[in-house]
Parts: sequence; C-alpha cells; structure tokens
Amino acid sequence: MGKGDDKPPTPEELAKRLSEFMKGQLGSTGGFNPFDFASSGSGDKAASETPVAEKKKEEPGRDPFSFSYHPKDIKAHLDRFVIQQDEAKKALAIAVCDHYNHAHFVRELEAREPEQARKIEFAKQNVIVVGPTGVGKTYLVKHIADLIGVPFVKADATKFSETGYVGGDVDDLVRELLDKAEGDLGLAEYGIIYIDEIDKLSSQGEGMGRDVSGRGVQTTLLKLMEETEVARRNPMNIQGQMGAMFDMTQGGAGGQKDTINTRHILFIVSGAFSGLQKIIAGRLRQGAIGFGASQETEDSPLDSQIFSQVTTQDFIDFGFEAEFIGRLPVRVVCEELAAADMKLIMETSEGSILRQYEREFGAYGINIQFKEDALEKIAAEAAKEKTGARGLLTVCERILRDFKFELPGTAVQELVVDAELIDQPEKVLQRYLKIGKGMSDAQVARGLEVFAEDFARENGIRLIFDEGAVSAIGDLCREREIRVLQLCREHFHDYQFGLKLIEKNTSQGTFTITKEAVADAERFLSDAVVASYRGEEDAKT
Ligand code: ADP
Repeated sequence: MGKGDDKPPTPEELAKRLSEFMKGQLGSTGGFNPFDFASSGSGDKAASETPVAEKKKEEPGRDPFSFSYHPKDIKAHLDRFVIQQDEAKKALAIAVCDHYNHAHFVRELEAREPEQARKIEFAKQNVIVVGPTGVGKTYLVKHIADLIGVPFVKADATKFSETGYVGGDVDDLVRELLDKAEGDLGLAEYGIIYIDEIDKLSSQGEGMGRDVSGRGVQTTLLKLMEETEVARRNPMNIQGQMGAMFDMTQGGAGGQKDTINTRHILFIVSGAFSGLQKIIAGRLRQGAIGFGASQETEDSPLDSQIFSQVTTQDFIDFGFEAEFIGRLPVRVVCEELAAADMKLIMETSEGSILRQYEREFGAYGINIQFKEDALEKIAAEAAKEKTGARGLLTVCERILRDFKFELPGTAVQELVVDAELIDQPEKVLQRYLKIGKGMSDAQVARGLEVFAEDFARENGIRLIFDEGAVSAIGDLCREREIRVLQLCREHFHDYQFGLKLIEKNTSQGTFTITKEAVADAERFLSDAVVASYRGEEDAKT
C-alpha cells in the first residue's frame, strides 16, 4: 500500500515495547500497568475483566443488506433531491445497481461455495464524474449511499499530498468507512468512497505540490480500486496501535477480521477537468466530424454531447495513467446549472435551502415566505457566482443576514421575501423594524420580567405587573418607540426610594403595579408612601 519497506511494528511488538517502557517509567512495583496486556493470550480472561467498549459485532455470514433496487428506483429517489443531471443519474443508477447486485450475488455464493465465489470475474463499475463545482456531484453520491444504506466517505484528492504519506492517507479512507459503518466490517466492505478533485492528480497539471506526485497517488489508488486488504487499525499512528492492542485483549477485533477488503467497495471519483473538453474537441476536429467550428478554451463549460465522445486516450492526454483511468469504466457528466435550474432547485428539491430558512426564522416565531419574483432574482444572482447551487446560499445569506439578526425579538411574525426586498434589502429592513417596534404584550411581559428581576436584585423588593399594567406599558413603548427596559427605568425612576420607605414603615416587600400606577407613576407612589405613614400612625394609636 505504498508504504515502502519501512515496516511498521506489529501490534504484538508494539505492545511489548510499550509495556517495557512503562515498566521503566513506573518501576516493577507490580502496580497496574495499563499497557500490560500483551501477554494476555487469547484475551478471553482479559475480555471478561476489561470493560468492553460497546461494539457492533458482525455475525459471520450475515448479509448487511439485501439489494433489490432497479435503476429506475434509484433515479426516482435522486429526482426528489437533485435537479437536472439526468444522464448522470441514469449512469450512476445503472452502475450502482450492477455493483450491488453483483456484490449481493457474490455474498450469497460465498456462503455456499467460497472457492467458486473467489473465481468469479467482475469488472468493477467504478465511476468518474466530470463536472464543475456545486452542480450536485457529491449530492448525488450521498443520496445514493443513503438510499442503499451503505457507508459513504468523501475526500479531496489534494489531501493526499498533505502528509506526504500517500498510502496511509488513502488507507484512512477505507478505515473511515468502517467508522461510518460503526465498526460493522461486513457493511464497510460494501461502502462507497468518493474522491473529488481527482483531476489534480494529472501529471500535466500543477499537480499535488510537495514531494508527492499525482502519478504516485494514482498508483496507490489503483491498488485500492482493484482489491487489497487494509489494516483496520492505522499501523503508523500510536492511537491505531493502542486500538489494535485493545482488540487483541478481545480475542482480535471483536471476533472480526483485522483487515478490510476493498474488492466490493465502489469508487466514484470526480473533478472539473478543465481542459479535457478542449482535448476531446481537438481530436474530433482532427477526425473532421463536424466540430470544426467550435472554439474551446480551457474553461469552456462542459458540453455533454462532446463529452459523450470521450475516450481513454483523451484522459491519458489529460495526464492520467492508462491503468488508472481503465479502472473507471463508467463516465458521467454533470452539467453547469443555469439560473432557471437554480430556481427549480429552490422550488422543488426536497433539500431546498428555502426549507432551511423557514426552519431558521421559524425558530424565532417568524414565518418567512419567498415570492416567485424573489426566487428569480436570487437564482440570477447565484448563477453569477459561478459556484453552482452553492451560490444560492451565498446570495441568500448576503441578503437575509441582517434580517436574521434584527428581526428576532421584535413583533414581526411574517417576513415576505419579494423582489423589492432582494433589490433594496436595507430599505425593506427598516420598514420591518418599524413594524417590529410594535411589540406584542407577551414581549412586553418578558421585558418587564427582566426589569423586575433587576429591581429585586438591586433593592430587595419584588414588583408584580398586573395585566392592565403590561398592556399600558406596551402602549407607551409602542407610542414612544422605545424598549421596555428603557421605559421602565425612566418611568419608575423614584420607585426604589419610595418603595424602600414603605417597606421600612410597613415591612411590605412585594408591590403590585397596576394600570393606574403606569398612568401616573409619581402620584401612585406618593399616595402609597403617605398611606404607609398613615398606617404607621394608626398602628401607634
Ligand atoms: P459538487 O458538484 O461540487 O459536489 P455538491 O453536490 O456538493 O456540489 O452541491 C452543493 C450543494 O448544492 C448540495 O448540497 C445541494 O444542496 C445543492 N445542489 C447542487 N447541485 C444540485 C442539483 N442539481 N439539484 C439540487 N441541489 C443541488
């Protein structure tokens, strides 16, 4: 697996080394040595004594899924979420059905005649998806994996250059599948690995940077795409080896194999492949099949008609190894999305971002509605971003962010996103804020609670606002366009002294504020203070 000759230590060796190291650190006091389970043999005893992490154990021969979809079922499922890309949907649906029907067949045969099963020949239908960013490539693969119920892992090919250790990074993808399958090896071995930006592995392009060549990565991936065994635990990191040792105490990976076979893992790779169109068109022109007039530039949008003529040689000319590209027999184009497609995505996809905004505003009690003229404008703006459907979120965030910040907590309960709002968001926001100043009584009551809490903390006196007071304070706030706290601080400015006086005279610690108190706060207070003195006099006589 591209690891060269620097053999990593086996789990046993590592366990022994760590154990010796710990003995050196702790002395041979006979005390607890957390690493000293190298000698626990089969691990039966240790397993019964060591707290065992919850682990899904595969029953041998259990079929993790029984595959019964037809290509049309898969396409129909994808149609619910992904707009356009019909050719891609079809090709993927067929490839996936072939792959999993075969896998299902082999699994059944393995259970009956394992020898026979090993001999079955099958050219894996790994897929290469060509298309610009944000047009639904990942989205398609994710929904296929969700539907079938297999684990799915995505990575960018450029990440393989980061550590300079290609083999380990590539193997990590397979191990990630096992994580996604919650340790279910049977399921992980039928997962989908999706690698984007595969065009960066071209030997022609700027390549991978550092000292890792795109070609090297291709070779490493090639082995994985065919068939290889990947260790469940990363032999190059200490954590992986600790895990391996833990497994040993359990009698080896909880009874499962300690390697993951990649034979049935489906690989889908993708990239924008700018420049490939030019290569194909150039070749077609040479063959004089009537493409003479087109003038492709490096970043011409993909034309699925031209792309349908792509040959392995074109990919080789682009900078791929023949063996590598040969392992990707299914070739699919995802086309650029036009503004009209973007509108359709918002209106009809089950994953539409409009639902997201409805939930987000809904959480603040605001019902958001999008009008058609607004969707047209958002779609047109998004198309200019040149990031595919991702542009929709960028545009919506830009326009709606201030609304999401300012409106929660105001009286606004309806937000209508129309063309005017898109064109003049600032102006429309001000209008909403004006409406929003009209707080509801519930919001006023909440504001009063805060005021009363502060008052109690500062003065040790409890205030209760009755219903009439809440509504009267609401009226004043709306009229003067100020917030509850501000109004109360001005309005009940003298209350802390007055009420404290009354408390001194009568020991009264709780006061009810009524509508009369709001109407003439000073008079209400002075009457109460006078009454408290009178009460004191009365008590004396
Ligand atoms: P990429 O083609 O770069 O893999 P993604 O599939 O990740 O792009 O698309 C990003 C997001 O844009 C998706 O999560 C999805 O919400 C939306 N999207 C992209 N293309 C489509 C499409 N054709 N139909 C519906 N939504 C789409």
